[in-house]
Amino acid sequence: MPHVITQSCCSDGSCVYACPVNCIHPTPDEPGFATAEMLYVDPDACVDCGACVSACPVGAIVPDTKLVAEQLPFIELNAAFYPDRQGKKLPPTSKLAPVPPAPEIQRHGMPLTVAIVGSGPAAMYAADELLTQHGVRVNVFEKLPTPYGLVRAGVAPDHQHTKQVTRLFDRIADQPGFQFFLNVTIGKHLSHAELLAHHHAVLYAVGAPNDRRLEIEGMDRPGVHTATELVAWYNGHPDFTDLPVDLSAQRVVIIGNGNVALDVARILTADPDDLAGTDIADHALAALRESKVREVVIAARRGPADSAFTLPELIGLTAHRPVVLDAADRELVAADLAGEHDALTRNKLDILATLGDAAEPAPAGAHRIRLAYRLTPARVIGDDAVTAVEFVRTGTDEVCRVDAGLLATSIGYHGKAVADLPFDAAAGVVPNDDGRVTGAPGSYVAGWIKRGPTGFIGTNKTCAQHTVHQLVEDFNAGVLTDPAESRGALERLVAQRQPELVDLHGWHAINAAEIARGDGIRPRDKFTRVNAMLAVAAMAPRPTLRDKLRAALRV
Ligand code: NAP
Repeated sequence: MPHVITQSCCSDGSCVYACPVNCIHPTPDEPGFATAEMLYVDPDACVDCGACVSACPVGAIVPDTKLVAEQLPFIELNAAFYPDRQGKKLPPTSKLAPVPPAPEIQRHGMPLTVAIVGSGPAAMYAADELLTQHGVRVNVFEKLPTPYGLVRAGVAPDHQHTKQVTRLFDRIADQPGFQFFLNVTIGKHLSHAELLAHHHAVLYAVGAPNDRRLEIEGMDRPGVHTATELVAWYNGHPDFTDLPVDLSAQRVVIIGNGNVALDVARILTADPDDLAGTDIADHALAALRESKVREVVIAARRGPADSAFTLPELIGLTAHRPVVLDAADRELVAADLAGEHDALTRNKLDILATLGDAAEPAPAGAHRIRLAYRLTPARVIGDDAVTAVEFVRTGTDEVCRVDAGLLATSIGYHGKAVADLPFDAAAGVVPNDDGRVTGAPGSYVAGWIKRGPTGFIGTNKTCAQHTVHQLVEDFNAGVLTDPAESRGALERLVAQRQPELVDLHGWHAINAAEIARGDGIRPRDKFTRVNAMLAVAAMAPRPTLRDKLRAALRV
C-alpha cells in the first residue's frame, strides 16, 4: 500500500527529507530536480510510514487506497518514474537523502540583518533559510497589506490544497527574528539605499509581475485581457477588483497553453456552486454565476507534443471537465504519437488521444474546453469589443478565425525593473550570479526575478537556499557593511513614511477576519479593497511592552 504524490505537488522537497527510506525522487541534489514536473514515490521502496504526508506542505501525498477516482492516474505516474521491478519489493534502505547544510554564520559581532522585498514563496523560503541561524533578523517588505504573493493572488481558487502552503509561511512568519512591514512599497516609501543603510543586505524576491505582451493588431480592444489580470481578478487582488470582465459571449479564446492557461480555462468553465466553497473573490463568483461562456478554446502555436502544460495539470483538467479536440487536431495528435518522445510527452499524447470530439454537440448549458494546435495569433477582430480572433495555421498561409467575446493572452510572465538595480530587459530578470546581483554589493535576488518565470511554488525553496548561501558567505567574508542605523530607527522611518503600515498583528487580524467571513463554508472570504484590509488591521490588538520584551529575548 504505497503512498502516491498527486497533482498538487509543490516540488519543495520537504517530503524527500522526511522519508526514512529515501524513496521520493528526484531529490534536490539529483539531476532533473529543477525541471521535474513533480516528485514521485517509488512504490517498490515505500514502507508506507506516512512520514511524507506530514511533511508535505500542500497535502499532495495520499495512501493509494485513499485516492479519489480522479487521482488514480497518479499511481501509474509515480511508478513510471522508476524502473519496472516486476512487482518485487525493494528492501528498506537506511540511506537518507542528503540534507543540504544550513548556511552557517561564522562571523561574530553585529547579528546579520536582512531586508527581503516581496512576501511570496521565494521570499518566505529565503526568510526560513536565514532564520535557521541564531540571532538573524529578517524584515519582510510587501506593498500589499496581505502577504504570500502568488499563493494568495495567483494559485487558482479550485486548487485549495496548494494554498495550504500558507500554513508553512505563517509558521515562518511567527519565528523569532522575523518582522513584517506590509503595505510598504520599496521605491516609494523607502529607497533601496535606505534599506541598505538599515540592513547588511537586501534580497529582492519580487517575482515577475508583468505579462509578456502579444504584439498583434487589435490588442487594445475592450475584451482583450492578459491571464495575469484575470487570475488577479478572480483571486481578489485589490488592484484588479474593478477589472471589467465581460462573460456575456459563449466563447472565450486563450492564447498559449501553459499551466496558467489551464487554470484560467478551468475557472471560466467551473460550476459556480463548486467555486462557492473556495476563496474565489465575491465579485468573480457573482460574474461567473451570470456567465454565458460555454466553451474556452486554448490555442497553442505549436503542436500537441510541444504543449506547455504539465502532465499532472492535464490529468487534473481532464478529470473535471469535458475537454475536446477537433478533427484536424486529432490528426496532429496521431501524427505526434507516431514519433519518438520522452515518457512524459508520450503520456500527455496518450491522454490527448482519448479526448472527446469537438464536432459532437455538447449537452445544453454544458461547459467544455477545446485544445487547439498550430494556431499562430494574427489579429483581434471587432469594433467596440472583441468578436473574433484571427490565426494563421503555423507554417502555412491558411487563415483561421475563431469567434469569441473575450480573449486572454497567457504567454508567460515577465519581470519588471527594480529601482537602483541593473536589469536585463530581454530576459526580464535582474542579472545575478546564483543570487548575487551583478555590480550591486549587498543586493541579492531569489525566485522569478532571479531565474525567470518558470517552475512551481517549491522550486523557489532550492532557489532561495542558493541565494541565502551566497549572502551568508559574503557576510562571513566581511564583504557586507554593518547597518548604520538601529532597528528602532528603521521602525521610526517606516512609520513616518507609511503611517498605514501593517505588521504581523495586523496580518493576523485580516487573516482571522477573512476566515470568519468564510463562515465555515469557505476557507476565507477575501477582502478585495485595501481600505477594508487596513480598517481590520487597525483594530488588531497591539503587543504589550511585555510581549515586545519577550519577543526581543526570543531572538
Ligand atoms: P508557460 O508555461 O511558459 O507557457 C507559455 C505559453 O505561451 C506557451 O504555450 C508558449 O508557446 C506560448 N507563447 C509564448 N509566446 C507566444 C506568442 N508570441 N504567441 C503565441 N503563443 C506564445 O507560461 P505560464 O503558463 O504562464 O506558466 C509559468 C510557470 O508557472 C510555468 O513554469 C508553469 O508550470 C507554472 N505554473 C504552474 C502551475 C501549477 O503547477 N499548477 C500553475 C500555474 C503556473 P511556445 O511553447 O510555443 O513558446
